[in-house]
Amino acid sequence: MCGIFGIDGCDDASNLTYLGLYALQHRGQESAGIVSWDGKQLHLERGMGHVSDIFKEKVIARLPGRRALGHTRYSTAGSSVVANAQPIVVKTSMGPIGIVHNGNLVNPNEIRERLELEGSIFQTTSDTEVILHLMARNPRQDLVESFMLALGEVRGAYSLLLITDRCLIAARDPNGFRPLLLGDLGGCPCFASESCAFDLLGARLVRELEPGEVAVARDRRVESYRLPQPVEPTRCIFEHVYFARPDSRLFGDSVAQTRLRMGARLAREAPAAADIVVPVPDSGLYAAMGYSRESGLPLEFGLTRNHYVGRTFIEPRQSIRNFGVKIKLNPVRELLTGRRVVLVDDSIVRGTTSRKIVGMIRDGGAAEVHLRISAPPTEWPCHYGIDTPCRDELIAAQKSIEEIRAFIEADSLAYLSLDGMLGAVTGPRDSYCTACWTGDYRVAVSPSHGRQAELFPIRAEGE
Ligand code: AMP
Repeated sequence: MCGIFGIDGCDDASNLTYLGLYALQHRGQESAGIVSWDGKQLHLERGMGHVSDIFKEKVIARLPGRRALGHTRYSTAGSSVVANAQPIVVKTSMGPIGIVHNGNLVNPNEIRERLELEGSIFQTTSDTEVILHLMARNPRQDLVESFMLALGEVRGAYSLLLITDRCLIAARDPNGFRPLLLGDLGGCPCFASESCAFDLLGARLVRELEPGEVAVARDRRVESYRLPQPVEPTRCIFEHVYFARPDSRLFGDSVAQTRLRMGARLAREAPAAADIVVPVPDSGLYAAMGYSRESGLPLEFGLTRNHYVGRTFIEPRQSIRNFGVKIKLNPVRELLTGRRVVLVDDSIVRGTTSRKIVGMIRDGGAAEVHLRISAPPTEWPCHYGIDTPCRDELIAAQKSIEEIRAFIEADSLAYLSLDGMLGAVTGPRDSYCTACWTGDYRVAVSPSHGRQAELFPIRAEGE
């Protein structure tokens, strides 16, 4: 769960990167960083927190040059410390390199252990650093070749951007798990995790990078190469279900329209005798609209969201615990009183939030609460970059649908079927990863995956 953005050949490259990251803030709120190349050296600024908190004018002024890239992070591999914030910048015999990564590798630990035995010294616990080590140990006249050799050794999910003294490089793994798009801003190539970043900049969306494509931007031109590994697209459909912004285009579909179709299919598969449809904001908004249109039941905004709370609100003291959901959501009694409510959300993970929201709708005066989920039950953890807990903590891995319904205290509960979800996207069914619902992990996960590498604690400004 990260957002990446890069641009080449443009005045104010770091300012534009800042704006790109600003539009991608929903993909990670833990830390952010930008690196720029000014023709002589790389400049790096990173910090913990939101993009706009870190990148004040004076910080951006310390990032000169016409080539830049950046990252906004939500940790899924490696711990939450500034040492793990990206970009990671190193000096190699091929020159300086900065890298940002969206996705999770599934075999970083086995590579890391091998390299450490051979003398490599790692600076972070992040899986991304292994790519730099592999490159540094296999220098080539053409750095792109060294990069592609390194990618031949790693497995898993990666959408990557690399900045060097010569070019900006973008790469997408052969499965294309995570999105990565090419844009054009007045003739300057740019890359972003989602098209909403281009919209903010006024850049044109050129196309999505192909799975297994390596694109090199220099002198206002983009050259493409193919990784030698076999290409087998398994794009993350959870990006459509929950993660991406609704105004983005992803894997050839509009996210908003996909969610509307999921909601409409849910209405057909799981109708409810009710008076109104209420979305859980913001995750259930578009699916609820689809449900409402298809069922003919009016859509009512029966929950208000406080938009100034990040996705990861940290409860400050034990005494005010359980604030949890209340900090973020509040029922609108006037809309709910006496009504039979179809409550629509995209997923139930642990079940704890959903239980509180159902209780909140009831406390708001609803006569009945029928929870409808616009994806199948989340039974398996993601190893490719979405932050889902282990199986023990996933309620759908532990309980039947009826037991979940009883736990969250809803009058009825229904999920969208796998067929229904896959029918809402336009690509071929087997070109999507459905591991969190089916356990079908299309890239084998190495046995040492998930073992946290250890690093001496580093205290840094902003922590
Ligand atoms: P839970 O109480 O764990 O069932 O939380 C369900 C809520 O978490 C739903 O509103 C989802 O939209 C949201 N959600 C789903 N996946 C994630 C995720 N990976 N990270 C954070 N929130 C999520």
